[in-house]
Amino acid sequence: MAPSRRPGSGPAASAPESLLALKRRARRINKALAEKYPYAHAELDFRNPFELVVATVLSAQTTDVLVNQVTRILFARYPDARAMSEADPNELEAILQPTGFFRAKTKNVMALSTRLVDEYDGVVPGRLEDLVTLPGVGRKTANVVLGNAFGIPGITVDTHFGRLARRFGWTTSEDPVQIEFDVAGLFEPKDWTMLSHRVVFHGRRACHSRKPACGACPVANWCPSYGLGETDPAKAAKLLKYELAPGNELLLDRLLAETHRAAEIRMESQRRLP
Ligand code: SF4
Repeated sequence: MAPSRRPGSGPAASAPESLLALKRRARRINKALAEKYPYAHAELDFRNPFELVVATVLSAQTTDVLVNQVTRILFARYPDARAMSEADPNELEAILQPTGFFRAKTKNVMALSTRLVDEYDGVVPGRLEDLVTLPGVGRKTANVVLGNAFGIPGITVDTHFGRLARRFGWTTSEDPVQIEFDVAGLFEPKDWTMLSHRVVFHGRRACHSRKPACGACPVANWCPSYGLGETDPAKAAKLLKYELAPGNELLLDRLLAETHRAAEIRMESQRRLP
């Protein structure tokens, strides 16, 4: 639904915001995003923590859609860490080629699989401090895996999350770790993982880097950056992408189905935790 917000009527036009007011506004944004994107979820397909850690490593500099196409082939051929660690590098490179930077990704995927086999009996560890020691796995990937495969709260700061957190006034930083800490201070840990999905969903669909669709934005009332993009509701609606784009309503059913599957996978992984 188009927002009732008028330019300059929100926090940007007010006196400096107290921490309490900032927290309240941040939580209203999260609530509005939850209502808009009840189907927000990890957009990478996975059936277990190993598949998610590999898919996340492969997602660097490419789209989740492309990674999902590649991992279908990849995990049919190499279903676990042991099989991946013993892969033929040339064959693996050929499979990973569409994702770009495939030589480096092949090395990382093989090295992290070998380390999982050597150090963790082939099982992905469920602690941040262990995950970040795996080749190719940084804090962002580790938080994706913890939040989505283990149900352990984590804020995932990618380019969309950082941009929106700054536009929302939740942080002024460009540094992913600082952004993570700034935003973590505004929300309960239980909300971190889903908040990350919702913010990234919103960044991909509406609050674009160059042309944010302010006139069709569900959080316009609480966003100090309202007016940065198109404010005319009809013109803004044309900027929306994916299932929100005009004519794409049927995609919603598919997203709802995948959300249920993602929750099942999370619960299954949690049951396996010691
Ligand atoms: S689209 Fe506009 S109003 Fe909505 S979050 Fe982005 S900058 Fe704020």
